[in-house]
Parts: sequence; C-alpha cells; structure tokens
Amino acid sequence: MPVQLQNTFTEQLGDLGSPVAVTPFADPRLLLHSPETASLLGFSADFFLQPDAADYLSGKKLLPGSQPFAQKYTGHQFGQYNPDLGDGRGLLLGDVQGSDGQRYELHLKGAGRTPYSRFGDGRAVLRSSIREFLASEAMHHLGIPTSRALSLVGSTEAVQRETTEQGAMMIRVCPSHIRFGHFEYCFYQGGEQALQRLVDFCIHQYFPACAEASNPAQALLQQIVLRTARLIAQWQAVGFNHGVMNTDNMSILGITFDYGPYAFLDDYQPGYICNHSDHSGRYAFDEQPGVALWNLNALAHAFSPLVPADALRQTLSLYEAELVSCYMQLMAKKLGLDSYRETDRALIGRWLALLQSQQQDYSLSMRRLAQFSADSQATVLRDHMLDTAAFDQWANDYRARLTDNALAEAARVQQIEQHNPLYVLRNYLAQQAISAAEQGNSQPLAELFTVLKQPYTEQPGKAAFAAPPPDWGKSMEISCSS
Ligand code: AMP
Ligand code: MG
Repeated sequence: MPVQLQNTFTEQLGDLGSPVAVTPFADPRLLLHSPETASLLGFSADFFLQPDAADYLSGKKLLPGSQPFAQKYTGHQFGQYNPDLGDGRGLLLGDVQGSDGQRYELHLKGAGRTPYSRFGDGRAVLRSSIREFLASEAMHHLGIPTSRALSLVGSTEAVQRETTEQGAMMIRVCPSHIRFGHFEYCFYQGGEQALQRLVDFCIHQYFPACAEASNPAQALLQQIVLRTARLIAQWQAVGFNHGVMNTDNMSILGITFDYGPYAFLDDYQPGYICNHSDHSGRYAFDEQPGVALWNLNALAHAFSPLVPADALRQTLSLYEAELVSCYMQLMAKKLGLDSYRETDRALIGRWLALLQSQQQDYSLSMRRLAQFSADSQATVLRDHMLDTAAFDQWANDYRARLTDNALAEAARVQQIEQHNPLYVLRNYLAQQAISAAEQGNSQPLAELFTVLKQPYTEQPGKAAFAAPPPDWGKSMEISCSS
C-alpha cells in the first residue's frame, strides 16, 4: 500500500510557498528504491511491485493525502544574497510518521516548474538523481546524518543541460526541508511575525526542549550551531566534499542535504575542489569548516530581531570548539586509539600531512592502519609511500602511542574497521553506474547501492568496489548542472 500523507508544513506555514501541481512524465519507470527508507515510512514491499508504483513515485498519481507544495526560501550563493530562490524543481508531497516515531517529509525532486523556477525547466536529470540517491543512502549507512532516498524514477523525457540528458525524479526523505535560507527569507522579506512563526514551528516540531529556554530562539540557534559543527566534523573525518555549501543547501537539522557535485576524496588533497564551477575554491574540502561558520553567521543575522547581538556572538562562538572536539574524537577512533588525548593532535596532523605529501588515497590508507602492528614492518602502508623515511618516522610515533593504548590488539583492529569504510562512493564508481543506467541497464546501479549499505564490512566478490580509482577516475570535477 502507498502511505497516507499529512501536510504539516503547508498547513502551518502555508504562506512560505505555493501549492503547485506536479508536471508528470508521460512514461515513468521505477529504476530503484530503498527498501530501508520504504519500510521506515511504512510502504509495504509489494507496493513497489504494483504496475502503477512509478506513477505514485513520480507524482502522476498522488499518494493519498498529498498536497504538493513548493517552499519559498532565499539564501547566500557563493557569498551573494539571492532573493529569488525556492523550490524551483522540487515539491513537498507531504509527511508521514515513520516506524521510529519521527515524522518524515517526502520531497519529489524534478517535479516540474514552480513559481520559483526562474529560467529553469523544473526538471532533474538521471545522472544527478542517481548521484543524490546513492550518496544519501551511502551517508546514512556510514552513520552520517543525511536526507534519505526513497525512489528513483526514470523517463524518456529529454532534458537539456550541457548535453541532452534523460529526465528523472527522485523522492528525498528527511524530517524537515527547512534550510538556513528559510530564515533568511523571513528576515529579509517576510517580516518579524513570519520569522517568529518559523522559529516557533521549528521548536515545536524538531527542538521541543528549546521551548523551556529563557530565549527559545537563541536556544534554537544554538542547537543548529552545534549540530552543524558535528556534521562538518563528520564530513572532514570521512573525506566528504559537499561542493555547494550555499545557505539554501544547509539544513537546520544539521543533516547532509542537497547533494550536487559532491565527492568523497580519493587522494588526500585538503584543497580539493569537486565543483568545477567553483573557480575560487570557496567550497574546497578544507574550506568547509570555515564556510559552515560563515553560513551560521548569515543564519544568526537572520535571528537578530529575536536575539540580542551579544547573545548571537556567544552562540556562534560555540561552533569551533564543538567542531574540533568532535573531529579529534572521530580521528582518534579512526586511528584505533582508546581515547583522544591532547598529545594525539600532533600525531593525527602529521599522519594527514604524510598522506598529503605522499599522495595517498585517504580512505584506503586509513583502513590499512588496521594491519599496522600485526605487520611489524608496517609494509602494507609503507610500500605505498614515496618517501619511506618520512613514513618510518611517523610509524615510530604511532607505535609508541600504541604501547600506551588501552585497547587490546583485536579491539584496536575492530575499531579501525568500524570507523574507516572499505567501500566509499567514489565519483568514478557513481559514474560507471550512471553510464550503464543511461544505456538502460540499472543492474550496476543496484549492485553499487547494495555494496554501499555495508561500507565497513568486507563483502565477498566485491573487491573491485574497494580498489583505488583508475587514473581516469581520480579527483573528477563534477558539473554543477543537474
Ligand atoms: P541547487 O543548485 O539544486 O541547490 O538549486 C539552487 C536553486 O535553483 C534552487 O532554488 C533550485 O530550486 C533552483 N533550480 C536548480 N535547478 C533548477 C531547474 N532545472 N529548474 C528550476 N529551478 C532549478
Ligand atoms: Mg539547493
């Protein structure tokens, strides 16, 4: 059965957007769905076998109760305020209570033109829809907060980008699609009453504990600051480059949101820029911690009618310590350390510097640490290094730290394997699945999706997915056009 939807956002904040009908595809075809997301939302497994499943999952037929709605928001893109944003090609379909008790919104991306489409066609292409589907599910299985994917529907509709591509729609799922840009819209255009109503809605729906604070709006901002800090720490630790951290792509829930030209690092290049339209490197991998704070500043500015300036500053000042502390804890786990000690910071920093200078693959090198001490010469790591003397120096310090590690050897290995994925969604892997799907074969896509569901566990017969990228697939730059 399809699920019965409610329309909580639209009913309570209907002036922050417009009802819009879906522009359906003539010939929708279901290419992939996530059984985990489906069961979270209460879809039965046979629903996806129904002949009209693709119709429901692409808005040709409406799920019961659904009232499609385009949200209005604004935001800062590459540092410039843009008042004309909003859902230009995606529609909120409604929300449903998940099996975990939380409510989840369903958002159909690629659903056609809306009042906020500007010059866009309202469509999404198969390539970018596959990329968002895979990345959001992969992030979830890595344990990183993210929107989820429910379904991917293809079509024969031609969509013009740099070349002619196939149109597709995917359903994205998360508790809220409210972005920093919703607050910016209320601040710059909507007025203080709208801002207060948005704050009240967010607190009531997502942050009920903030209602008890002396200034609930400040408490809400604080939660967003802390969650964002924790999210960025996880991105940096896993080697994820988002690529378009505009404020309209930042979720107030601190989840990874709006996947575009993202990349998981291959070689450890901190200055890596995955987005080929990002000429200044504003959204480079190592800029992400600073840019997220810049975005939080833009958000805090939007809170200024409700929170005094010194309280805003104090709230923003929590960001850095939270980020650094989370990041260091995560890195200590990845290195197999029992706990993070202040002196580990140098060890971690020198390890990263080594990976950078030796042009080492980030994920594979981290994972190889599991074999470090059983292999007394550390050959598995050492053989990959260009400058073995530099590696030996670091290895001595690591060995010394391990003599003082409260974890037994087996536990250390287990911890490393549980915190360093063997399978990451490298851009070239996604690209291979996309090329096949564009030729009408979704089998490689389904196989890649299956592998990514257990990123930390070695899977028989799947060694190719854990291999370093071929030269053509290294450090791909991805087009922003989607
Ligand atoms: P994005 O780069 O996907 O985060 O989108 C930025 C803004 O452009 C949002 O307001 C989108 O809704 C809008 N947009 C992106 N692509 C299209 C499109 N093909 N048609 C209409 N609006 C679009
Ligand atoms: Mg966006």
